[in-house]
Amino acid sequence: MSRKKGRLFVISGPSGTGKGTVCRELLKEIGNEFSVSMTTREPREGEVHGKDYFFVTRETFLENIEAGNFLEHATVFDNLYGTPKDMVVNRLERGRNVILDIDVQGGLQVKKAMPEAVLIFILPPSLAELRRRLEGRGTETAEKIEKRLGQALNEIRLIGEYDYYVVNDDLDEAVALVKCIMAAEGAKVPEAVRPVIREYENESKQK
Ligand code: ADP
Ligand code: 5GP
Repeated sequence: MSRKKGRLFVISGPSGTGKGTVCRELLKEIGNEFSVSMTTREPREGEVHGKDYFFVTRETFLENIEAGNFLEHATVFDNLYGTPKDMVVNRLERGRNVILDIDVQGGLQVKKAMPEAVLIFILPPSLAELRRRLEGRGTETAEKIEKRLGQALNEIRLIGEYDYYVVNDDLDEAVALVKCIMAAEGAKVPEAVRPVIREYENESKQK
């Protein structure tokens, strides 16, 4: 049973919960289906322009908002982040699935713009573990870590807007569950079943 359009998956959750890690594991297993966001944040050591993010100035980002180039965009911890619309739409139209690793504000915007998107929320096992992960990652100052932790509970409170949740305790189990969710979504009977029936009718006629 073929589907013409790909599916859009949104992966969100508090900073430090392991979204990036889960997505990197998925990338190894299912290939390059991730959207690359644009941001005004400074690159971290080892991050590559065009691979991790498109790192741009605030001016360039604002021009892109003006031009309507984003599927969604949000201010996250003082920096602007946005999902380039064309890239996502083109891939979906070519029948490819797309995964977005974006914050909760962005996830809710995507749900509004594309209600068929599947929203997955990654939870930390506890707030104490979230703190350990943020501290362990070592990419933010103590002040920035406090800001991210302060925001975590506000984001978790919005989980009711999401379709699925995954607790990222054991990484392998979390990745396996995300893959199961994606597989199950892929096997859902499409709302418009007519085209699917037609495919079988056409096949039957060809015989
Ligand atoms: P996010 O993208 O959600 O901000 P990261 O993927 O950068 O989070 O993960 C934050 C830190 O937690 C990283 O140092 C990462 O190695 C670690 N981490 C991620 N998942 C797990 C896990 N299941 N168990 C232990 N540590 C984890
Ligand atoms: P980081 O600076 O740690 O890479 O990302 C900070 C937060 O911004 C994370 O929660 C990440 O998911 C989110 N983020 C990354 N790209 C986008 C995007 O394009 N749009 C939105 N709304 N959030 C994003």
